[in-house]
Amino acid sequence: MTQGTPVGEESASDALPEGTVDAVVIGGGAAGLNGALMLARSRRSVVVIDSGSPRNAPAEAVHGLLALDGTPPSEILRRGREQVRQYGGRVVHDEVVSAEPAAPSADGDLRFSVTLADGRSITARRILVATGLRDVLPEVPGLAEHWGHSVVHCPYCHGWEVRDEPIGVLATGPASIGPAFLFRQLTEDLIYFTHGTDLDEDSRARFAARSIRVIDTPVTEIVNDQDGAIAGVRLADGQVVDRRILAVVPQTQARTQGLEGLGLPLQDLPNIGRGFASGPAGTTEVPGVWVAGNVTDPVAQVGASAAAGALAGIDINKMLATADTDAALRAMAEVSPS
Ligand SMILES: Cc1cc2nc3c(=O)[nH]c(=O)nc-3n(C[C@H](O)[C@H](O)[C@H](O)COP(=O)(O)OP(=O)(O)OC[C@H]3O[C@@H](n4cnc5c(N)ncnc54)[C@H](O)[C@@H]3O)c2cc1C
Repeated sequence: MTQGTPVGEESASDALPEGTVDAVVIGGGAAGLNGALMLARSRRSVVVIDSGSPRNAPAEAVHGLLALDGTPPSEILRRGREQVRQYGGRVVHDEVVSAEPAAPSADGDLRFSVTLADGRSITARRILVATGLRDVLPEVPGLAEHWGHSVVHCPYCHGWEVRDEPIGVLATGPASIGPAFLFRQLTEDLIYFTHGTDLDEDSRARFAARSIRVIDTPVTEIVNDQDGAIAGVRLADGQVVDRRILAVVPQTQARTQGLEGLGLPLQDLPNIGRGFASGPAGTTEVPGVWVAGNVTDPVAQVGASAAAGALAGIDINKMLATADTDAALRAMAEVSPS
């Protein structure tokens, strides 16, 4: 079963509620589902809208996650959806194509309108954006087909699995230098392909001290063996350098499409990409909108993304409790002005 291909429970999509819900969570990965779990357990009406393509879909298993190490990503999300539903939360399989502030309620509470790809829409008091990011690989023929398997980005996600292999770091910029030392921790056979990026003398000396070879000739393609596994990389001079694994630091692009109407500011994340700016507990400059997970923090792994979603869910519940109490006070004052 591949991620995003509905089978069994995967195909179950809850009905979109009528009227206004306490919160719509846009994106049902680790961040969005944990936010929704907190809200549902606080008896908030919450709907997760998820288009079903989480970032780690190509990976066979999630690693480095306490108690769940080795569990397939699809299984973690399946359990997450089940748990959200257990407390009355709903999970709708669809894509949000627009989200924007709407007219406030009669008592002045915030409202947002969220429209789905199939044309349906829903009104929410608060929004949690947890849409994740896209990894953009360098354009080297043959590279993308191995993404998440023999082309890896994170020594903590798949480092142990590729230990002792001949690994090549295909540099994308200065952000590739640091991870090279982390992959060196996992193999003694490491080559750093500068691939047209700068490598300063100090880093060259440090690489040499750790027996990391450097090749400056650009890589032109990834070469496969008869079984389709990586056999090596071809250089611009025609030489093929044997490698089984390639480590790449991709550019990251926060998944912001369709969310422009919320007016969330973006921030640059040096050498990595751009994401939605956020403050404590995922708060944003836009009242009533929170963000969590990779859409604001590209280096957050599954555990950190889930934790960020949980914190945002807790904060949303707190703000809703304040809004509910303010509204109750105003209602009391109207009934008995004295
Ligand atoms: C190959 C690979 C392997 C990895 N392995 C590990 C690992 O072993 N351990 C680890 O801890 N981390 C791992 N990670 C990192 C992990 O993928 C992220 O930490 C995690 O996915 C972030 O969770 P998230 O909820 O922020 O985003 P995601 O998991 O990407 O979820 C976002 C969800 O939002 C949905 N969405 C996006 N836009 C919309 C929209 N407009 N409307 C509705 N839904 C939308 C998407 O379809 C997706 O389901 C790996 C990453 C990659 C690329």
